[in-house]
Amino acid sequence: MVGNQAKIGSFRLEFLVELNSVPLELFHHPLLTQHNIRLHIKRDDLLHPVVSGNKLYKLMLNLEQFKYEHKKTLITFGGAYSNHLHATAFMGKSLGIQTVAIVRGEQLVPLNPTLKDCTDWGMVIEPVSRGLYRQKQQAPEIQSIIDKYPSPYVVPEGGANRLGVQGVAQMLDGVDQKDLDVVVVACGTGVTMAGLISACEPHVRVIGFPALKAEKWMGGEVQGWLDVIACTNNNWALQHGYHFGGYGKTKLELLEFMDDMEANYNLLLDPIYTGKAFYGLLKMIENGNIARGSNLLFVHSGGLQGRRGLSTKSSS
Ligand SMILES: *Cc1c(COP(=O)(O)O)cnc(C)c1O
Repeated sequence: MVGNQAKIGSFRLEFLVELNSVPLELFHHPLLTQHNIRLHIKRDDLLHPVVSGNKLYKLMLNLEQFKYEHKKTLITFGGAYSNHLHATAFMGKSLGIQTVAIVRGEQLVPLNPTLKDCTDWGMVIEPVSRGLYRQKQQAPEIQSIIDKYPSPYVVPEGGANRLGVQGVAQMLDGVDQKDLDVVVVACGTGVTMAGLISACEPHVRVIGFPALKAEKWMGGEVQGWLDVIACTNNNWALQHGYHFGGYGKTKLELLEFMDDMEANYNLLLDPIYTGKAFYGLLKMIENGNIARGSNLLFVHSGGLQGRRGLSTKSSS
């Protein structure tokens, strides 16, 4: 179906980070044999030892734009366990860019491992109440935080903007789609899914698994991002049944599934995104909802740093 390797070939920014090549690994599981389905995993979790997966793709064109506009401060938004903040802080340190995070929730001390890394890498944390955070687009209080910093460049939560979508579209560079039928990915904002959809040839269907309760709006979000980049590809669908109670929520069944994948299949997943999506994919296969003979590609979007939040999260 696909070559052995795919990697980012088109970073135009002078990145100071070394990127690993991302293997496409054939995944073996009795369910796949039973249903005569081939599944490769695109290991974007391996892209970089710290900044994993899709977050780097969403950031790269924004970082380029930041440099192009000669901005001085990169300001972004996220929750306390955000992979996006973590990635942004690391890239800021690597590229010598001052980063600021407007973080949801006022009680952040002691810092969790994610935010500890972020501050170690020089990111300034601006905690705001959940209520204020919800109105981050229009609240004057948020604007005054932004205005404190010299020449700010604002990246929305999760790297969700046009440049984010266009960056993600490069995730499939180097992947031969000739014999490919389905690309599978986890969804948060829907940006990654939209970027992948735009990068797929018309015969390739993209299936997204929202990591949150988003039946009412995720479809609109994905379509909205497609509209932003004028992509008319409509060969995609969302599977809403695998959010396990909502964003950041989990169930024993999911944790046991992840343990099984790690212990018996040497596959590390994260509980927020990839664990849910991979669980959902295997369930769909088990239920006969993926055609026999299909060739699938699961994009492992990373997020493994968030696993550290698992134990501390339940006690806070
Ligand atoms: C952020 C994230 C996603 C979701 O990406 P969106 O572009 O927000 O849909 C999926 N997987 C992992 C590991 C992530 O960190």
